[in-house]
Amino acid sequence: MGYEKQQDAAERILRLEELAGDERNGLPGSLWKSPKGDFAVYTAKSAGFCFGVRRAIDTVYREIENGQGPIYTYGPIIHNDTVVNDLAARGVRVLRSEEELDDLHDGTVIIRSHGVAERIYRKLEERGLQLVDATCPYVRKIHRAVQEKGRDGYEVVIIGNASHPEVEGIRGWCSGPASVIETEEEARAWKSAGQLPVCIVSQTTFHHKKFYKLVEIIRALRYDNPVVLNTICNATEERQTEARSIALLADAMIVIGGKHSSNTQKLYEICKKECNNTFFVQTFDDLNLRLVPSRGIVGISAGASTPNILIEEVSKLCQKTILNRC
Ligand code: SF4
Repeated sequence: MGYEKQQDAAERILRLEELAGDERNGLPGSLWKSPKGDFAVYTAKSAGFCFGVRRAIDTVYREIENGQGPIYTYGPIIHNDTVVNDLAARGVRVLRSEEELDDLHDGTVIIRSHGVAERIYRKLEERGLQLVDATCPYVRKIHRAVQEKGRDGYEVVIIGNASHPEVEGIRGWCSGPASVIETEEEARAWKSAGQLPVCIVSQTTFHHKKFYKLVEIIRALRYDNPVVLNTICNATEERQTEARSIALLADAMIVIGGKHSSNTQKLYEICKKECNNTFFVQTFDDLNLRLVPSRGIVGISAGASTPNILIEEVSKLCQKTILNRC
């Protein structure tokens, strides 16, 4: 147990208040305290939609307003059923595969924040479909980097999950040899395609420390220094750092997000390490209120695809539960 957890709950709440009031600690989230001051619910400021996801969702709603249907998103716009169902009710359809795109003859296709491979852009153009690109600018930057490095004769290593759409998209912009590494075992077993110089990039939501650990392993395999581009998004890092700071003080931690959201999954792992009572909830209904402690701190964080409304509901429910117990 860390030093923070050994402190009395009231002391930890005070500490949280101090941190929350100090912008330098990156913790100006929202704090609710019970009337006796022995219970607090703290919602991380960075919980919920990041800039790229917000932008992609706004793009879809704007297209709906423009009324130039039919409208499709290439894959679900975010990993959140509530938002995807709302869009479906407004007539937005989801293309689940490249084959479905091949069958399309007209309409607007919106590319989500994860981005897609270069060939998908070509396909959309060839088929005469209207393209609306909501790829996050940070992801686009990686596309450009790997494309340029490939042209300059580099082999690209992407640190991330090979089956994640963002990584598939990045791979699809590599103009030379490319491979994906996610684990230490994979890094140790990695063999370069030839004698080319190596450039390493990351999936934007990859864990910071793990990224550098894998870079070190790859570095040790080769004598020449690879070019390392840390393309982990700040939004992810900030969310992870803030969640960890809260989990260090919390008696229970709730991480909200979709089960397919890799950034929520990573957030959960980080919090679980610091606070054993960490729970992953997808929706309001998953929250087991018996797990909410009767005193101390409940911390709340959420992945980049979690709507604010859901975060607020979970926070309010925790507050109501504790007030009912008083
Ligand atoms: S996490 Fe970062 S890179 Fe990914 S969509 Fe959000 S802002 Fe963009």
